[in-house]
Amino acid sequence: MTSERNPTRRILADGRQIFYFDDAGRFRARTARDSRELPALDHSSRMRFDVLTGEWITMASHRMTRTHLPSAADCPLCPTNETRTPTEIPESDYDVAVFENRFPSFASAPGDAAHSPGDDDPSDRPAVGHCEVMCFSSDHTASVAELPLERMRTIVGAWISRTEELSADPDVEQMFCFENRGEEIGVTLTHPHGQIYAYPYVTSRTRSMLTQAGKHFERTGRSLLADVLAFEREDGTRLIYDGDHWTAYVPTAARWPIEVHLAPHRDVPDLPSLNDEEREELAVVYQDLLRRVDRFYPGVDRVPYIAAWHQAPVRMDRALGRLHLQLFSILRAPGKLKYLAGSESAMGAWVNDTLPEAVAARLRELK
Ligand SMILES: [Zn+2]
Repeated sequence: MTSERNPTRRILADGRQIFYFDDAGRFRARTARDSRELPALDHSSRMRFDVLTGEWITMASHRMTRTHLPSAADCPLCPTNETRTPTEIPESDYDVAVFENRFPSFASAPGDAAHSPGDDDPSDRPAVGHCEVMCFSSDHTASVAELPLERMRTIVGAWISRTEELSADPDVEQMFCFENRGEEIGVTLTHPHGQIYAYPYVTSRTRSMLTQAGKHFERTGRSLLADVLAFEREDGTRLIYDGDHWTAYVPTAARWPIEVHLAPHRDVPDLPSLNDEEREELAVVYQDLLRRVDRFYPGVDRVPYIAAWHQAPVRMDRALGRLHLQLFSILRAPGKLKYLAGSESAMGAWVNDTLPEAVAARLRELK
């Protein structure tokens, strides 16, 4: 159970918020002050509408100066103590800490940018939203797959809490909780952490999925993702896990070398809609899946992965969206990455070098 006092909310030196989520039974007062002198935040991100594809593109040029692969001694996500320069987290220890990104793609307080001349042009507007960083452990070398189960429960609680709070912002249309793990994915900090994006629009992939779900509903009166889930549970050839409340399977049209979808049995639009039993099983199965992915290639200790939560949009088409996790890796063999080359990058036409049924069989045997 999450403590009723979670999270503790504090303010960093430049006005950004930080939230401490404590494991059950470990609540501690969080009173450390951020002693740093920080430059003012840059809220200059803008969004431009690509009329050729109907997609928004965010221009966040200030992100070019962000911290890139610092040594452990300079890691900004480690706790602050006397022997090192202060970090983003003023406390000397923490369980899960969430703070507003200092280099956000979407800024929560646009300031003057909100009144810039570009506002007259609806295809060029301030990128208003939220970008947060979620640190999963104060241990610089930890891996989410190997954290204690109690910590995983705290992480699930933090995803839910942040999704709930940011969804209430009238500028936010879609919530995205995710983890990029591994330098191969483009991670600039190796400390175990994830991110939360609150977009001011519904992303193109989500819109495509809503369109497909809408067509299916018109035809059958049923939920597309629920029907896919029922088919996978019946068929069984791509199943990895079939629990009381959740099922994991390799999708029939997987596009990545390793790809797993994890879906709740109940029709649930987003993480805050999960009940206590679903949250508890999620904490267990989430780590189980990460461990299987980590063991996928003999000789590779930590497989780079992206764990992406698909949630229904905050306002539009709530009934068509259905919560699920998309967990995938770009590693197609030890030392070999799947690059998004001409066909994928230019045409959006995917070629997968692996067979979903074989990937599922391998993931099953790694239990
Ligand atoms: Zn660190």
